[in-house]
This record gives sequence, structure tokens and C-alpha cells, in this order.
Amino acid sequence: MDLFKYPAEPFRIKVVEPVKMVSCNDRERIIKEAGYNTFLISSEDVYIDLLTDSGTNAMSDSQWAGMMKGDEAYAGSRNFFHLESVIQDCFGFKYMIPTHQGRGAENILSQIAITPGQYVPGNMYFTTTRYHQERNGGIFYDIICDEAHDAGLNVPFKGNIDLDKLRNLINEKGAENIAYVCVAVTVNLAGGQPVSMENMRAVRELTQQHGIKVFFDATRCVENAYYIKEQEPGFEHKSIKEIVREMFSYADGCTMSGKKDGIVNIGGFLCMNDDDLFTQAKELVVVYEGMPSYGGMAGRDMEALAIGLEEAMQYEYIEHRIKQVRYLGDRLREAGVPIIEPVGGHAVFLDAKRFCPHLSQDQFPAQALAAKLYAVSGVRSMERGIVSAGRDKVTGKNHVPKLETVRLTIPRRVYTYRHMDVVADAVINLFKQKENIRGLKFVYEPRQLRFFTARFEEVNVNKSTAVKSGTLAHNSI
Ligand SMILES: *Cc1c(COP(=O)(O)O)cnc(C)c1O
Repeated sequence: MDLFKYPAEPFRIKVVEPVKMVSCNDRERIIKEAGYNTFLISSEDVYIDLLTDSGTNAMSDSQWAGMMKGDEAYAGSRNFFHLESVIQDCFGFKYMIPTHQGRGAENILSQIAITPGQYVPGNMYFTTTRYHQERNGGIFYDIICDEAHDAGLNVPFKGNIDLDKLRNLINEKGAENIAYVCVAVTVNLAGGQPVSMENMRAVRELTQQHGIKVFFDATRCVENAYYIKEQEPGFEHKSIKEIVREMFSYADGCTMSGKKDGIVNIGGFLCMNDDDLFTQAKELVVVYEGMPSYGGMAGRDMEALAIGLEEAMQYEYIEHRIKQVRYLGDRLREAGVPIIEPVGGHAVFLDAKRFCPHLSQDQFPAQALAAKLYAVSGVRSMERGIVSAGRDKVTGKNHVPKLETVRLTIPRRVYTYRHMDVVADAVINLFKQKENIRGLKFVYEPRQLRFFTARFEEVNVNKSTAVKSGTLAHNSI
């Protein structure tokens, strides 16, 4: 293995957690009982868990030591002041409010910054982010560049905002009808694609001319910064921290899930510069989270997050993280498995439309593929396609995203390159027998964020009817 292309783990292992492999027969029963939804499988029954990189991180010895220094005072905990100073140093914002996780921050921001009927343009959507925007009367509007919707296209910075789309929206609807621009760095649902510094700067210039605020979804900002250092001219000699600092100089505030680039298991925060907004946010945080000096977090959790953020800014850490994910993507691509290009920061996304060409999108190919991958290998992944996209609030119809994907999400500092090989072998093997993956239909569809708890069963089409008329066969069941 090329040590420069794929650097070995920049840590040694001090604590281990055994995992077990359940038998193939058991896995088939388990996934059926879980309604073909990988969210509903017990963790005990999973061999390699790539469901999410959210809160699944391994903390360092320094972070665990920090946990012992938790100051659990109800108000004014010293860990809050530590976290606040680290966040101010890394991101440059005046104010910070801790929340229980990212969606806690989204809830508060959406309530204070959106007037019902206003548009909230964003570079693609994230499930919880869009949910809170819409719940508060906002109208989500996608302004990501067209390249992001083309799964096979290998160009850098596919998370960029299309400035023409943003300009047209402002001209058409008027600046007063835009709540703020939401810029995710990186874009989770586009495959973890980063946004270039040039694009952030241009978005800032355009919105400033119209007095429109910009809030970043900072959840994976360190991964985004690595891509800027690696691929954007002029940044190769800057430190990750300098790059992060510049990125956030183009925003009025941010929401962040600490469960991702904060390298902790729980936590999040909301930042801003505006005094009025901060006052409103403080009024709401006591309703939904807790005192402004702990939000939804214990003192020890704030300490772990403060230390985690500093560790995330270290070059060796983030280089290994990005390249380990890339290694898995490289192995799959070399075997001809269709993946989203280029490989993003936190996950490899299988392109389920090309992986399962025999299934139509209303048979939930990504959901079916994720379920089958578990059954054949014990590797747990997640659907990111039509099920995650949900239904239109007004028409009740399914959103039909162009990207129909299965996400293999790599937890931070948890698995080795050898684990990546096991995953690659399992996916490659399944790809060779992809005709065995059967379509699914809902047996239970929750009204909100349905992907978390939905249940399915396999569609029982025999091949001859499926070939005659896919839609007819599907409707008749
Ligand atoms: C995870 C995530 C969130 C929500 O954060 P939680 O901590 O899970 O509530 C928001 N945006 C993005 C891009 C995320 O990946």
C-alpha cells in the first residue's frame, strides 16, 4: 500500500471493543424483521457499522481526560468558557450557544431567522435542516451547481453554489423575501462534496449587495478545509485552522453538529455575530435546550468538544481521515462499482440507479441495496435517495431526487484500512450478483423524516411480469 497516497493511522489503539459476526441466515431474518430498514437493526447484530459518521467517533485520551474535568454547575460552567474560546478562535464568531446536537441549533436558527413565506436557498438540502426551515414557514430552494446532481461527473468542488441560480432567485422574489442563504460545507447529500473558498467569497459578495445574511452548516467544515488545502490554488501552504477561519469570515453565523467534525459522540452549537439575533436565540435556548451556558450539553461533553475541535484542525488527523475514505472509493471504482465521483469527505456513496438498473426509483433501489448489503455481509449502510427525500408538504407527492444512493459512512478513528478491504470485498461481491436485489414497498410510512423508522417488504414480482410492465406489476401488489 502506498504510504503517501494512503497514510497509516496517525494514532495507536489503547482501548478495543470486540465486534461479532452473526451468521448469514440470522442476518436475513434480522433485516426482514427490521422492515428492510438498516436504522432498525440492533448495533449488536452489525459487523462493520457504516450507518453514519454522526456521534460514532472514537475520542482521544485527551478528550477522555477532559471528560473527568467536567464542571457540572447549572450555570457558568468552566467548560462552557473553554468551548466558547476554542470556537471563537477557530470560527471567529462573537457569540456561541451550545445545543444538544446540530438539529437543536437548526431549530433555534430557523425560528429566529425565518418569517413564514420567505425562501431559504441552500446548496442541496439536509434532512433535519430543511425540516426545521419548512416547519417555520420557510420555502427551501436548491441553488447548488448542476454538476452536483450528476453522480458520475468527477470535478472538484461539486458543493458550490450556482451564483446565477441565487441571483435569479433574488431578482425574482426580492431580497426581503429571502430569510438567509444556507451554505453547507461540505454537502452531505451530494456525496460529501466541498465548497471552494472562491465560491464562499462570491456568495458573500452577492448577498452583501442585497443585505441578505449567510449561515453555514459547519458540520463537516474541517473536511471541507482539507479539500481547499489540497485542491484550491493559493491554499497549499495555509494551515487547516487558517482555512477554517477564512471560510467562516464569509458567514454571519453557523449551526454545527459536534457529532461529526467535532469528534465527539453528542453535542452541537449555534454561532452568530448579530446582537439582536443572539438575544432571541438566548430566549429560545432556555425553552428547548437549557441555560445558555450549557444548552443541551453536560459540562464534560462541552470539554470533550472543545478538545475535539482542536484535534480536528491537526493536519495528520484530517489527511488520514480523507484518504481512508478515498481508499475505499478507489477500491470500488477499480472494480467497476458505480459510485458518486469524486469521493467526498465522510463517505463513499454507491450510485444505486446504476448498481440496480433492474429496479425503478419507486421500488426504492437504494433502500433495497442497503438492506441486501447487510444481509450478505453484516456491513450496515444507509439509504440516501427517494426515501430520505420524503414528500412535498403541499402536494403530498414524493420528492424524486436525481441522486439515489447508498452511503457507506466512515466513523472517525474507529476502523482500519483492513476493515475498508472487508467492506470493499463485500460490495464488489454483491455487485456481481446485483440481480438478486429485489425492490421494496412501504408497509409503514412515518409522516416526518420517514427514513429513520419506515418499514418495507420485498416486492414480489416474478421476472416475467416485471419485464412486461414494471409499473403495472408494482401497482397491482
Ligand atoms: C448531521 C447533520 C446535521 C444535524 O446534526 P445532528 O447533530 O444529527 O442533529 C445537520 N447538517 C448536516 C450536514 C449533518 O450532516
